[in-house]
Amino acid sequence: MSTFLNPKRTVAELKELRALTGDENGAQRVAFTPMWVKTRAWLREKLEAIPAEIHNDAAGNTWTTLRGESDRALLIGGHMDSVPNGGWLDGCLNVLAGVEILRRINSQYHGKPPVTVRLVDWADEEGARFGKSLFGSSACSGNLDMNEARGLVDKDGIKLPDALNNVGIDFERVKDSGQELKNAAAYLELHIEQGPVLLDLDLPLGAVLGTFGVERHALTFHGQAAHSGSTPMNRRKDAFLAAAKMSPEIYHIAERSHGGVCTIGSCTTKPGIVTSVAAECRITLDQRHLDTTALAKMLQEAHDASEQFAKEGNVKVSWERLWQIAPRPFNAELIALCDESIRETCGKSHRLPSGPLHDAAEVAAAGVPTVMMFVQSLHGISHNKIEDTKEEHLELCVTAFDKLAEKAMKWLKPK
Ligand SMILES: [Zn+2]
Repeated sequence: MSTFLNPKRTVAELKELRALTGDENGAQRVAFTPMWVKTRAWLREKLEAIPAEIHNDAAGNTWTTLRGESDRALLIGGHMDSVPNGGWLDGCLNVLAGVEILRRINSQYHGKPPVTVRLVDWADEEGARFGKSLFGSSACSGNLDMNEARGLVDKDGIKLPDALNNVGIDFERVKDSGQELKNAAAYLELHIEQGPVLLDLDLPLGAVLGTFGVERHALTFHGQAAHSGSTPMNRRKDAFLAAAKMSPEIYHIAERSHGGVCTIGSCTTKPGIVTSVAAECRITLDQRHLDTTALAKMLQEAHDASEQFAKEGNVKVSWERLWQIAPRPFNAELIALCDESIRETCGKSHRLPSGPLHDAAEVAAAGVPTVMMFVQSLHGISHNKIEDTKEEHLELCVTAFDKLAEKAMKWLKPK
């Protein structure tokens, strides 16, 4: 297959795209804008040259299909949209690697692979304009909350349904895109890691176990305002003291959870003046884990700790859930194939969960066996113009991802 696959071409196309759709501040391919439309026209030219069938679904996702001997479909996905001032790899690396794989499969199998192979460019993965990510993939999976989405407004006051209408998408019909998954039998997505794990391990590639589940809560400790001069230390109901004890505690909770992460990202006090004991202290807690039971245990432990600290300080605590999403574990057999492809390409693999959500999480939620491959990010940074990956690693990821596609086709082929 190596005679047909040209990973250097993918790197060259990424640079071509950067020159076409970026400026001195980074990539500017925000979904449903003229630049995004231009990006997709550029992509379409590449796809038409393969040649393959191309159409947009009801949610604006672009599907490129190589019909195979079987209708069972192997899906490869990514997103051409970026955040404003974004990086040159997030999302489009996945799609352009997919384009190269389609070229290879088309040449090797003379236009008729053993199973159907489809590349999807999801519409508005980033949610940069309307504040809601995974638009196209959640419409396709059926998870999009239509009432919430109908009311979304961008910073210029334009409603999501109107922005969609401008690019030829009827908002009320977007969930019709779900029919695209009818014959979907496996879904693969390549992505930059966007974190420092592979960099710290000095490994180019990793197999992704799934996306984290998230529990996001606000905790408010209720004490009593009292004069900072006249109130003896032993007579205080100090809401901040109780809240502050949560800070080291979440590190212990995360450590005991084996693989979870916990963050207190915000803290506000009332009355919030220098001469009063804090009557009220509100903190936010974000907990993430790949395992449902472990995530529930982390949450329970945080609950118990907050009650204990409240009791110790003679204050009260109340909890409010802000947001929640279940973990999306990927398919065990596809994870094994991903690992194998990486080892064959560069000797050593590593399995890791994904902290950020990806379109793959929606496809997995729709019941399609799914796996992702990560390639190392330099600086562990993305959504920024400094986002980068070594060119040799980019070439390796295209090679390994192509091997995974071939293995997945064999896995899907009717025996
Ligand atoms: Zn992305």
